[in-house]
Amino acid sequence: MMPERDVLVVGSINADLVVTGAALPRPGETVAGGSFERHGGGKGANQAVAAARSGARVRMVGAVGDDDLGEEAVALLAGEGIDVSAVARLAGTPTGVALIVVDDAGENQIAVASGANAELEASWVERALAGARGGVALIGFEVPDAPVLAGARAARAAGLELMVNPAPARTPPAALLELSPVLTPNLAEARLLAREEDAADAARALAARSGAPVVVTLGAEGALVHDGRGVERIPAPRVDAVDTTGAGDAFNGALACELAGGAALLDAVAAAVSVAAESTRGHGARSVAGRRG
Ligand code: ADP
Repeated sequence: MMPERDVLVVGSINADLVVTGAALPRPGETVAGGSFERHGGGKGANQAVAAARSGARVRMVGAVGDDDLGEEAVALLAGEGIDVSAVARLAGTPTGVALIVVDDAGENQIAVASGANAELEASWVERALAGARGGVALIGFEVPDAPVLAGARAARAAGLELMVNPAPARTPPAALLELSPVLTPNLAEARLLAREEDAADAARALAARSGAPVVVTLGAEGALVHDGRGVERIPAPRVDAVDTTGAGDAFNGALACELAGGAALLDAVAAAVSVAAESTRGHGARSVAGRRG
């Protein structure tokens, strides 16, 4: 039997409420005639799903509200075989919501209310990670700095490998980089964080700050890896992409799973690039093909 690949995701959990219509509304305008769908969302939860479908044993650490949307979000994760015992249900707080409008051309507008994600407490994350034994912790930026930092410290204290997906980009606390996480920004995030235009320059600058590998995802171009020695680009397979929403989440979840399985960084990135490319062939943020086991 294959040894368990343990992945612990600390991050956001949202309900995505999506209206697809002919046109995006202008300010003050109502556009009628759309159709409505509700999906599980949030970068953290999407990454957890991708890791689980890649075959990892996944534990989600995060927070939802004590409303119907929160119950549904947790049930969707549990339905993927994810351990949801460290998802807090916060009384009197709404579950994080993304209101998404998509038009005919696939152009979108998104308004996010982070709700319970913004209330995730450092102490809750610390407790959730205290008993962790081995594997990879994957931490994202759709929750506040305090739980991010607490999670990273607890992961290191428990001897876990540490991945930080700095999305959406904001300046990370210096103390976070001192923990030498593997950083996984996309190109826009890498440029913002490193203040360098060129992807390789940005990767080098970030690696110099963290003292650890940096993986910059480049959309259809694949990913660029700075592993402490040099920079290497891993190309993505050519696919007929229909929806790239959540491609980065698929990438991060798959990468965490591969690293938890003991794969070398370049091999793990190559596998994650394939999974993420494949995910763009289906609609929605969780359209990662299942490879369980
Ligand atoms: P994000 O979704 O965070 O913006 P990227 O756009 O960099 O991140 O995409 C993440 C990964 O998804 C890429 O490294 C690649 O593997 C895959 N990917 C995204 N868009 C495409 C595409 N058009 N064709 C093939 N692979 C893609």
